Amino acid sequence: MPSTAPVFHNVIEAIGNTPLHEVTALDTGPCRLFLKLENQNPGGSIKDRIGRSMIEAAERDGLIAPGGTIVEATAGNTGLALALVARQKGYRMVLIVPDKMAQEKVFHLRAMGADVITTRSDVGKGHPEYYQDMAERLAGENGWYYINQFANPANPHAHETTTGPEILAQCEAAGVAPDAIVCGVGSGGTATGLSRFFATARPETQFVLADPEGSILGHYIETGEVSTDVGSWLVEGIGEDFVPPVADLSRVKTAYSIPDRESFQAARELLRREGVLGGSSTGTLLAAALRHARRQTESQTIVTFVCDSGNKYLSKMFNDFWMIDNGFMETPHKGDLTDLVA
Ligand code: PMP
Repeated sequence: MPSTAPVFHNVIEAIGNTPLHEVTALDTGPCRLFLKLENQNPGGSIKDRIGRSMIEAAERDGLIAPGGTIVEATAGNTGLALALVARQKGYRMVLIVPDKMAQEKVFHLRAMGADVITTRSDVGKGHPEYYQDMAERLAGENGWYYINQFANPANPHAHETTTGPEILAQCEAAGVAPDAIVCGVGSGGTATGLSRFFATARPETQFVLADPEGSILGHYIETGEVSTDVGSWLVEGIGEDFVPPVADLSRVKTAYSIPDRESFQAARELLRREGVLGGSSTGTLLAAALRHARRQTESQTIVTFVCDSGNKYLSKMFNDFWMIDNGFMETPHKGDLTDLVA
């Protein structure tokens, strides 16, 4: 008899309960490394969980009424998640998106029924056309609800009540206990919610930050200082130039600062060796998890995430020409094209 996969009556029911994949084809030192496949959520990322939790919290708190409008400032996975859940529940979703974002993302959001308003990418916080300021202003002017993942407690709450318990139950079923969890921080929702859950459920579990080189968060974990020395990075969805208000990183004790090159190579290796197509932040998390695993002297169980699907990055980090153009891969010099067509 085949085991029975669930039957859903609404796509929102398909959010969460994602599988764990054990990495067996990469060198994990003395450790066992598991990836939680958040790319298998219906909207394609870990953000589906907070799309659901933030909208349901607003319903419970009476902040949105049937037929009402929700606004958020992002073209990223949170926008896709909110557009998916809002549509199913009958809310209008407005997304304020900086104009440097890939056209595909805007097409995807519009195809899901969201209204997308593009704004300038070349202005910063405090400018009326900065995407976050614009979302807040439009919400005030039109009576829309600004859901703001960076300050919304329902964001970490989703991970405290779903992602965390799932990881613990799956590890128990596999006969292991999670010694370390490796997280990236965008809004900080994942790291905050998981560390709150494990603080009571299994306090020995350690939290490790995977941070793109250039972000201020790694330095913040190590020193408590918020640096103004911000670099740039190409990995998407994680790393910040500020500490998000919703983030409580007090239980995160170790940080790895990962260069883009190492992140992209890790994501490419994950596809080649394990057959798992993850996005760029998955590369950063995997690279940090592998560094952490190889540093251990005794066996540990480490859990990290495939945060979103690599589909969105096929023309970037999975494209050899893009990798070469950006200095992340060397051009083969053989005098013919064999390496490129191999
Ligand atoms: N990976 C990707 C691809 C993301 O879009 C995000 C969220 N921006 C994260 C990781 C980090 O999650 P969080 O916002 O919970 O810190």
